Amino acid sequence: MVGSVALDSIETPNGKREDVPGGSALHCALAASLYVPVHLVGVIGEDFPAPPLEIMKKRSINLDGLQRLPGKSFRWAGRYHKDWIGRDTLDTQLNVFADFQPVIPENSKDCEVVFLANIQPQLQLDVLDAMNKPRLVAMDTMNLWIATELPRLKEVLQRVNLLIINDEEARQLSGKHSLLSAARDILTMGPQALVIKKGEHGCIAVTGDSLFLTPAYLLEDIEDPTGAGDSFAGGVMAALTAQKEFNMKSLRWAVILGTILGSFGVQGFGTERLNSLTTEQVESRLSQFLQWTGMRETV
Ligand code: AMP
Repeated sequence: MVGSVALDSIETPNGKREDVPGGSALHCALAASLYVPVHLVGVIGEDFPAPPLEIMKKRSINLDGLQRLPGKSFRWAGRYHKDWIGRDTLDTQLNVFADFQPVIPENSKDCEVVFLANIQPQLQLDVLDAMNKPRLVAMDTMNLWIATELPRLKEVLQRVNLLIINDEEARQLSGKHSLLSAARDILTMGPQALVIKKGEHGCIAVTGDSLFLTPAYLLEDIEDPTGAGDSFAGGVMAALTAQKEFNMKSLRWAVILGTILGSFGVQGFGTERLNSLTTEQVESRLSQFLQWTGMRETV
């Protein structure tokens, strides 16, 4: 997995925190590592605190590909609107990510499954170039890269099996409002399958000839939506790694696990809730979700 490892400053309708550990790869790795071994590729600066690294080591996340470089860590600041959905990016500082060259450790090059979490498309390409024939490659991205790095992003799209993005990004990338039309359009750009996340309204998974819809898990208490998409992706990737085959059947199960992990991700600031999450808690919520949706008989 490659992606950002960050210090985030976040304001939600409930409160404000500065410099909490986050980043697409940190959220995603913590979620996925509950179920599968994770090798993390990324970069942190001299100011990155030790506790999140200790938590990742305890989860057996391989950090040989996480470089610590002189300078400051990547920083992102955002403020959520009163509806908890809209969000303004207040600041993005690439810092050590600006000149980062990923170096994939020898023991990570044979990973069967690669997840290109949200980061500059060129870094996603660099990681792909260094890997030895993964059986499955998936990617995430964001509005910033669709607006500023579209040609590079399209190169990455040509090389992945699965794209995981949110509804706004799907509309921005395709120029189509209908999510189904957007999905069909994006599938012509390269990936075999696409997952479009719709926040509290769940998500859709689409391949050339099939479609799957699921609601989100209903929560009463949300602390911080940051990283929901990344913990969702961590669940999706864990399930796809464990299942060996990549098709709509495995993808359906994967988005359900993603839905559950994403729901935990928003129940603490930054990675707070993911840090202490156990597989027993995931499975108990999964069981409740299958009951609420009536899916138990169908998956
Ligand atoms: P999400 O809420 O799923 O969109 O993910 C939020 C995470 O993405 C935060 O922890 C940020 O540190 C990280 N992030 C924000 N902007 C960027 C960016 N331009 N590149 C990589 N990661 C980013």
